[in-house]
Amino acid sequence: MTDQDKGADTLATSNFIRTIIDRDLASGKNGQRVATRFPPEPNGYLHIGHAKSICLNFGLAEDYNGTCNLRFDDTNPEKESTEYMEAIKADVEWLGFKWTEERFASDYFDELYNFAVKLIQQGHAYVDSSSAEQMREMRGTLTQPGVESPYRERTIEENLDLFERMKNGEFEDGTHVLRAKIDMASGNINMRDPTLYRIRRTPHFRTGDVWNIYPMYDYTHCLSDAIEQITHSLCTLEFEDHRPLYDWVLDTLKTPAHPQQIEFARLSLEYTVLSKRRLIQLVEQQVVDGWDDPRMPSLSGLRRRGFTPGSVRDFCGRIGITKKDAWIEMAMLETCLRDDLNANAERRLAVLDPIKVVITDFSSDTVTELVSANHPQNEAFGKRNLSFSNTLFIERDDFAEEPPPKYQRLTPGGEVRLRGSYVIRCEEVIKNSSGDIVELRCSHDANTLGKKPEGRKVKGVIHWVDAATAVDAEVRLFEPLFTTADPSAADSFEAVINPDSKSVLTGCKVEPALADASPESRFQFERLGYFVADWRDHRQHSPVFNRTITLRDSWK
Ligand code: ATP
Ligand code: MG
Repeated sequence: MTDQDKGADTLATSNFIRTIIDRDLASGKNGQRVATRFPPEPNGYLHIGHAKSICLNFGLAEDYNGTCNLRFDDTNPEKESTEYMEAIKADVEWLGFKWTEERFASDYFDELYNFAVKLIQQGHAYVDSSSAEQMREMRGTLTQPGVESPYRERTIEENLDLFERMKNGEFEDGTHVLRAKIDMASGNINMRDPTLYRIRRTPHFRTGDVWNIYPMYDYTHCLSDAIEQITHSLCTLEFEDHRPLYDWVLDTLKTPAHPQQIEFARLSLEYTVLSKRRLIQLVEQQVVDGWDDPRMPSLSGLRRRGFTPGSVRDFCGRIGITKKDAWIEMAMLETCLRDDLNANAERRLAVLDPIKVVITDFSSDTVTELVSANHPQNEAFGKRNLSFSNTLFIERDDFAEEPPPKYQRLTPGGEVRLRGSYVIRCEEVIKNSSGDIVELRCSHDANTLGKKPEGRKVKGVIHWVDAATAVDAEVRLFEPLFTTADPSAADSFEAVINPDSKSVLTGCKVEPALADASPESRFQFERLGYFVADWRDHRQHSPVFNRTITLRDSWK
């Protein structure tokens, strides 16, 4: 059976990690189990880069009948919170994944402490009382070995005593750390007696003020993996140089399980930033209106923008998993979205910049019900009634007094078809005293409903909304937040922020069915793009829509 035959969605394309797992399963390693985990730190919201890791970890568990834990890597109490934790859970669920177990590194604080005591007893860890500055100086550089700390040869008894007192809160932050005793001359700086614990007399969102010391990421991560009996610990390439430390901790402590760390390339997406630190800046400096601003690459932002979970999963499948860093074009993400919405979004009529059209030869007190298909290719979406009366709205730029060459929309004396309705002809242009067009007076050809006009060709088709039943709406349009493909390379955000990334249109006219739309429902507004009812601001009688994406790729 090939990977494709396994029936999981697009994730089931083979990659080097699947090859490793296949080999492990064939050799009987790990009792033929596959156990992965997704290990976010609850210090920010998840972004599209995290989605790559989520799809990989949860996707493998699904395809191999394995398990995938959601593990919060919560070892930095200053930056972490319940709000972030809840948001992360909501985002993973939104993507459509179910974790086997919810775990926290903080669940293991006792065990991790006991492991550290064991390392001290084995002579593999010591308390260093150098300042952070001194430690930095002694660490050496890529070309120069480090220098051993004067505290390195403390006795086991002294280390045990100091470490316990660190735990008990007897010392100020920064006065001591627990370090592994490995090799200050190692070519790998991560192996130069890395810090295992530091003092932080800060309350933790889960353990409160029980702990005065917190374990470091490198120490916590491998042991958490081992405790959970993870088989394949997948992380991004920047951890490659940390793998020797991962293995050292587990080997030195002889843990019963020894997961295999495997690195893959992180997602880098053009015209955005994918780093929590950067995203927090955007929120804190109020460049955007919060984490779920539709311009954010956060999952909550993409969701509010109108992305579907399926399109994000499809994207993660299409970009694949490799060991080589590469930039992905935004157009790729948008193609996945367009494909999904084109197939699944119902069509509706809306006019963003309305101009009034009066059909002078259409009876003034009649409202006719036309029938329109909700989807041009898929009858399963059904049909709806559309009202038509003698007063309509069309898009201002679908009329030109002095049309450019090849213009196929409405012109003075010209004809155009109203989509799903009649052919009309513009007979008169009404302007106000400042010369702005306020109304177009048109006639209609009553024989053109569902039929071609006789004796002439009318090429243009435009969208419209019946003024008798139209509802006023607010519509928000978005452009890329940044003006350069790699905004992180800029000196400051200010230099690369697109000042026109958001525009808010009011007084848009939408067909009445859209006023009843539920929040987060997605539509194609004919000829305009795909739109989503904003989950925060949309109300039944005052609809608010975000434009998710235009109909055609605008990156070219
Ligand atoms: P950031 O650098 O944005 O703060 P992080 O890696 O520190 O992100 P974590 O919460 O530790 O954030 O990430 C959880 C998991 O998601 C990790 O395994 C990490 O490797 C993975 N991850 C983070 N960013 C990306 C990305 N751009 N592409 C793929 N995986 C990612
Ligand atoms: Mg991290």
